[in-house]
Amino acid sequence: MATKFLLTFAICRLIVTVGLTVDPMELLRQGVDGQLSLDPSDVKTASLDFGRLSRAEPLAVLHPASAEDIAGLVKAAYESTHGFTVSARGHGHSINGQAQTTHGVVIQMSGSRGKRLVSGKPALPLVYEKEKYIDVWGGELWIDVLRSTLKYGLAPKSWTDYLYLSVGGTLSNAGISGQAFNHGPQISNVHELDVVTGKGELLTCSEEQNTELFRAVLGGLGQFGIITRARISLEPAPQRVRWIRVLYSNFSSFTKDQEYLISLHEQPASKKFDYVEGFVIVDEGLINNWRSSFFSPRNPVKISSLNADGGVLYCLEITKNYDESTADSVDQEVDALLKKLDFLPASVFTTDLLYVDFLDRVHKAELKLRSKGLWDVPHPWLNLFVPKSRISDFDKGVFKGILGNKTSGPILIYPMNNNK
Ligand SMILES: Cc1cc2nc3c(=O)[nH]c(=O)nc-3n(C[C@H](O)[C@H](O)[C@H](O)COP(=O)(O)OP(=O)(O)OC[C@H]3O[C@@H](n4cnc5c(N)ncnc54)[C@H](O)[C@@H]3O)c2cc1C
Repeated sequence: MATKFLLTFAICRLIVTVGLTVDPMELLRQGVDGQLSLDPSDVKTASLDFGRLSRAEPLAVLHPASAEDIAGLVKAAYESTHGFTVSARGHGHSINGQAQTTHGVVIQMSGSRGKRLVSGKPALPLVYEKEKYIDVWGGELWIDVLRSTLKYGLAPKSWTDYLYLSVGGTLSNAGISGQAFNHGPQISNVHELDVVTGKGELLTCSEEQNTELFRAVLGGLGQFGIITRARISLEPAPQRVRWIRVLYSNFSSFTKDQEYLISLHEQPASKKFDYVEGFVIVDEGLINNWRSSFFSPRNPVKISSLNADGGVLYCLEITKNYDESTADSVDQEVDALLKKLDFLPASVFTTDLLYVDFLDRVHKAELKLRSKGLWDVPHPWLNLFVPKSRISDFDKGVFKGILGNKTSGPILIYPMNNNK
């Protein structure tokens, strides 16, 4: 089974075309219906992102009223003899300026200022209960997608760890979390898109229609078009989640168990976990604090008491979804799976919560960090895909080597099947 691991660390940088400066007021005369803002606070917001590593001031910020509005602006940029740049911004949670632009206009896709409609089509979001999919605006946040679908007892299948990200923003990358081994990343769970192309055309695309555009835009880093509508696949929403963490001091046992668990993806639901992720603990603070408030203070952990190899521990994170009809068998199913794993004895930490609280878990950490002034700070994060053949070299060189026990930042390891 081909496997790779996504390590959350990374930075990639790509930004659209650069042209000559144009007076933004000119753009107002180009027939844009939405609000083209020169407000310094809008410009400041659009010139920064979550990474706080890169700053670039646009000439103006468009709060689009519709998909046609975006098409009109991009067409004007394409046809303009002066030339100006256009960059879509979802929720601005990139790390290194991916949604910024200097000589042009940032299109603020998220937020409530635009009507965000396509003329002649129903207002979004729109849940298709029978077909099990939802149509959403490209700037919709995943937390709001979840809220809309839960009203129908449905939910998207594949997630990111954090839900205050836009649909267009994560579909331009991949959208990876612990469900990806089973359902694929978020980009593998999209039926159809409406996209504004670089020429300013508004096209619908899917595996059947405008296929090249569909495949280019998904994971296209915002370089092949602007997603205005996405049709996302849904499943019946589980009610509760049994969330388990087990610890390893041996890296190869840890990755072997991750690989084993994701190799079960074709098994029936009762014989596999629903979420497989993991993280590296090079500092005691991490396991007892960051992302851990659901477990502590009931389960404080001391690395020194666990015989960590080179001061480093590895935490496998797994969940089992259940509802009333499967509540009686969940313990048995979890135990049967845990028996096959090789973690440190007496290192099983378990909690149980509502499905929605599990999916929205990082927001709880966000609120805690915000209250301490530790959220709006620089985030020099890096994401890497590492093939299975090199993951143990990575452990020796980076986790035990370069990092040693000198960082308290999150180091996540998402095991993935290549065929998903
Ligand atoms: C706390 C935190 C946790 C995270 N966890 C995960 C995780 O678990 N898994 C994961 O995969 N990622 C994760 N990410 C990374 C995140 O998915 C990406 O940074 C994503 O791009 C952010 O979405 P955004 O809406 O803020 O996008 P932005 O930063 O606004 O934009 C990102 C890119 O997408 C383009 N873009 C934005 N909207 C559109 C659109 N409608 N059409 C076309 N292009 C568009 C932009 O031009 C830019 O290139 C996390 C980020 C943070 C800050």
